[in-house]
Amino acid sequence: MYDYLIVGSGLFGSVFAREMTDKGYRCLVLDKRSTIGGNVYTEKIDDINVHKYGAHIFHTNDEAIWKYVNRFVDFNNYRHKVFVKNNSRLYSFPINLLTLSQVYNVNSPEEAEIKLQSIRQKTYNTQNLEDWIVSQIGVHLYEIFIKGYTTKQWGRDPKNLPSSIIKRIPIRKELNDFYFDDLFQGIPKGGYTIMIKNLLSGVEVKLNTNYFEDKNYFNSITNKIVYTGPIDEYFDYEYGALEYRSLQFQHESLTLNDFQGTSVINYTNLEIPYTRILEHKHFEFGRQKSTIITKEYPLEWRKGEEPYYPINDEKNNAIFQNYTKKAKTLPNIIFGGRLAEYKYYDMHQVIASALKKSKQEYDK
Ligand code: UDP
Repeated sequence: MYDYLIVGSGLFGSVFAREMTDKGYRCLVLDKRSTIGGNVYTEKIDDINVHKYGAHIFHTNDEAIWKYVNRFVDFNNYRHKVFVKNNSRLYSFPINLLTLSQVYNVNSPEEAEIKLQSIRQKTYNTQNLEDWIVSQIGVHLYEIFIKGYTTKQWGRDPKNLPSSIIKRIPIRKELNDFYFDDLFQGIPKGGYTIMIKNLLSGVEVKLNTNYFEDKNYFNSITNKIVYTGPIDEYFDYEYGALEYRSLQFQHESLTLNDFQGTSVINYTNLEIPYTRILEHKHFEFGRQKSTIITKEYPLEWRKGEEPYYPINDEKNNAIFQNYTKKAKTLPNIIFGGRLAEYKYYDMHQVIASALKKSKQEYDK
């Protein structure tokens, strides 16, 4: 008999398993995939660690979380930068003084503030993404940097998306083009799979195993379940299906040593079907002779495909609340992670959630 059967070996499942194992509980981790780590899984191809499910850059302001992850793998000192390509021209991003210089030829923080004040538009419903961002940067910058990318990424008119999505990204008047402000940042040396492997060290893991295919049996061998998949799937879509955005990745090996000169370029024109191109060697300052790039194509999630992003608009959040209410009536199951909590979490937030929920268990 297990104390915890954990469905999913992504970050939530792996951290939860580590914590409870260290407290003396018996855990079994299942994953339907043939690999550990969920979407943080990286694979070494031609000596390059490829982020198979999209770029993952670790960043946090929480020193305890930073120390925690460093117990399991060494991090390099990569600090994330993203550039934008629009109409074949490269721009600095997130919007900062260099971007404003490229677009408007303003060349100091003071000039930037004056320019921004003159281009900001008064809008009336700043709950929606388009109105909020136009009230911050005006229509022209919105059209270069945000409109096409956001429409592709979410498959929805930015007027129908919550402004919280765009508030993730800073708007700066100084010459600072780092993507994140967080104090602690990096990429695991050798890839994320090492981190997950070490988190799961000494934990029993069964891959290629779908919990739902033998649910009654799995329920019979454990006291509690930790479920990290989509919460609506767990309840067989009883209150309706939640919407997600999905992604398709096209990986290409090239016999070039440098394709784009940086790790991520966002393509903001609507006509280009992918949102960004990753070049993996740059995450680890690689000097290999060849390179591997990945084009990310967003698409609507349908049953049977992989969900990546929750769509936290009012409609979906209301459906999610119904599932949460029902989940609270089940004492022997814990829901955690981006899919089960239906939250646009970054990695450090997933880890914080797993640490909190495991502590609630062993403090009982
Ligand atoms: N975004 C944009 N243009 C860009 C980059 C981001 O309009 O060049 C918007 C887009 O709506 C995206 C959101 O900002 O979904 C958040 O971006 P982030 O980089 O945090 O997305 P993630 O890396 O999680 O996909």
